[in-house]
Amino acid sequence: MPNKKRLIEEFIELVKIDSLTGKEKNMAQLLLKKLEELGFEVTIDDAGKFAGGETGNVIATLKGNRPGKKLLFTAHMDTVEPGIGINPIIDEEKQIIKSDGTTILGSDDKAGIAAILEAMRTLKEKNISHSDIQVVFSIWEEQGLLGARYLDYSKIDADYIYVFDMDGSPGRIITRASAQDKITVKIIGKAAHAGLHPEKGVSALIVASHAIENMNLLRIDDETTANLGMITGGTGTNSVMSELTIHGEARSLDEKKLNKQTNHMVDCFKEAADKYGADIEIDVSRVYDVVNIDDNDEIVKLAEKAFANLGIETYTDSTGGGSDVNVYAGKGYKAVNLAIGMTNAHSVNEFIKIEDLYNSSRVILEIIKEG
Ligand code: ZN
Ligand code: CA
Repeated sequence: MPNKKRLIEEFIELVKIDSLTGKEKNMAQLLLKKLEELGFEVTIDDAGKFAGGETGNVIATLKGNRPGKKLLFTAHMDTVEPGIGINPIIDEEKQIIKSDGTTILGSDDKAGIAAILEAMRTLKEKNISHSDIQVVFSIWEEQGLLGARYLDYSKIDADYIYVFDMDGSPGRIITRASAQDKITVKIIGKAAHAGLHPEKGVSALIVASHAIENMNLLRIDDETTANLGMITGGTGTNSVMSELTIHGEARSLDEKKLNKQTNHMVDCFKEAADKYGADIEIDVSRVYDVVNIDDNDEIVKLAEKAFANLGIETYTDSTGGGSDVNVYAGKGYKAVNLAIGMTNAHSVNEFIKIEDLYNSSRVILEIIKEG
């Protein structure tokens, strides 16, 4: 069994170290040292150089002392704002750990890191036999999954990747996650004086409104969403708006549906531009790929077995949010995201139940035993 007291102490230690996105160096150095002390071979890759941050991903490898599935456990090091000078508070009565209300707590995702570290410490301490294990602590998850994207995959050798970065209590297994497209559209009409000869202009805004009128947006179906979230344009009320830029996105659990929705949005803009004789520049990018693991897949079965050993009920679930698991799935790895109990993440009301933190660490150990 992992040591609960030691786990809490280490979690507190970790959240007190500032590690905003791109500024994870102190955290990475500490985790490198901790993993080396646990007997792992540890390196830091070059992902930080590509992303433009202070440090790369921490990649740690522990050779197995028996055959079995090659397991990779991962959590991300970076946190969102306000995340400087976090002062964690243990609420003994509620058995939770929270922030003091001025910052986030950082259980997203240091609960994952602490749970993994304590499981590995227990593994060593109790001399538990295990197959090959890797641990990755990634940078830059919160702003575009760049750590996972630029991870040095030549150092990765894993059958199953378990990501610990999800809300909900342990037992919630995320097997499906949406892919996302970002869509940026610049409409270039023609300026003209709004009072003297507006008929000489082409209003980018009217082009956009025509496009949007014909566009399916927001909830498309139970697996698909689309949104135009930002718009900029215009110089004054006396000018016909000559340029306008719209930023939007589409997400779906089904890649075909996503392609269809994105194409639909692009077509609406093109059709409107055509109709009014405006120019248009459209930029579409796949931000991350779909995660779609069958409920009967071995990676799920192994997690279920591990939870069953602890008497914890499980269920598979989907999410519209992106995480490192989307990148691993896109690279062809078998990966799922396991809930660790982070609650109200990305807010100053963030907290985690001590029991959820503890169970996350326990289940890692059970996955290793069964793997
Ligand atoms: Zn996270
Ligand atoms: Ca997050």
